[in-house]
Amino acid sequence: MKIGCPKEIKPQEFRVGITPNAAREAVAHGHDVLIETNAGVGSGFADADYIAAGAKIIATAEEVFAKAEMIVKVKEPQAIERARLRKGQLLFTYLHLAPDPEQTADLLKSGVTAIAYETVTDDRGGLPLLAPMSEVAGRLAPQVGAWTLQKANGGRGVLLGGVPGVAPAKVLVLGGGVVGTHAAKVAAGMGADVTVLDRSIPRLRYLDDVFGGSFKNGFASAGATMELARHADLIIGAVLVPGAAAPKLISRAQLKELKPGAALVDVAIDQGGCFETSHATTHQDPIYEVDGILHYCVANMPGAVARTSTLALGNATMPFMLALADKGWRLACAEDKHLLAGLNTHAGHLTYAAVGAALGLPV
Ligand code: NAD
Repeated sequence: MKIGCPKEIKPQEFRVGITPNAAREAVAHGHDVLIETNAGVGSGFADADYIAAGAKIIATAEEVFAKAEMIVKVKEPQAIERARLRKGQLLFTYLHLAPDPEQTADLLKSGVTAIAYETVTDDRGGLPLLAPMSEVAGRLAPQVGAWTLQKANGGRGVLLGGVPGVAPAKVLVLGGGVVGTHAAKVAAGMGADVTVLDRSIPRLRYLDDVFGGSFKNGFASAGATMELARHADLIIGAVLVPGAAAPKLISRAQLKELKPGAALVDVAIDQGGCFETSHATTHQDPIYEVDGILHYCVANMPGAVARTSTLALGNATMPFMLALADKGWRLACAEDKHLLAGLNTHAGHLTYAAVGAALGLPV
């Protein structure tokens, strides 16, 4: 199969859909890998790395879309990219169609067969192509939180790990899923005094069994949340209610109860944020202050560490990409219900129920 990878064109997107190592494996499986020139530069991969892996460098995105039978990307196709898609072509990337009627209409019009990373499932009920980005955002959260707490940024001027004779910072993590667990591990590793709150008892049991020695956990009642929040230097928002906006766990009025200069890192901002005062920010201008409390609310945190994110995403997508290329999408999806769960559009039809429900379209 001819597998094409254009350079990402969404502003501030530095990741790339195919790594040189993934290209090497696809070539070893007998496929042609077509990479747009400089597609990997933002993630630290030169054209020469792809050539060494056996891929071909293509001068323009237009040519990649025209020649490839499968397009592998990171972000949802932008309008100019959607105009290049066609019936019979396979698209494998993040789509997030539910809140995006315009993109959905264009994909249906193009007739492309689109498999969305975010709806591919696994045996344990997880989302294996979303998890790597949650791992990245979770591990990044204490790092950006530590920076936000620095005096020059308006923070409390507290070092997460403390020093001998000086207590470490108190870190409260709201939500103990993928983001929250990775955030807590890193914050504890930096020497902070960490507590994770969640509303799922099975999840609390897991956290207790696995991490009982390195951080504390508790049930996320409103009372427990505020009791811990009052003493916290850094609060990391990492909750998710599938299919719904994030619940607001700290209101504007409650900011007065927090320590002046405390930092809120709202990782859940892509679902609306879990603090009432959260609004999405960018890597260029990530922090703002409300009532003396610092807020960091970057909606695409993994973009800050594009190389790590590209490598993590590439590891997760590669087996699916190879199955699609080796068998064709029909057989690959027939043999793997988890890949089939990723199918969102085909030949002008919407094939994913939740997107249909969200947009009021037939499935
Ligand atoms: P997850 O499903 O693995 O974990 C969410 C956890 O929140 C679950 O354990 C759930 O029980 C818990 N929860 C739900 N309601 C709660 C409440 N009221 N109080 C406490 N806990 C509650 O999800 P995840 O992969 O960890 O993702 C968390 C959020 O981070 C999502 O909104 C996701 O989209 C977002 N995210 C953002 C970025 C970014 O760049 N900003 C990157 C990756 C993920």
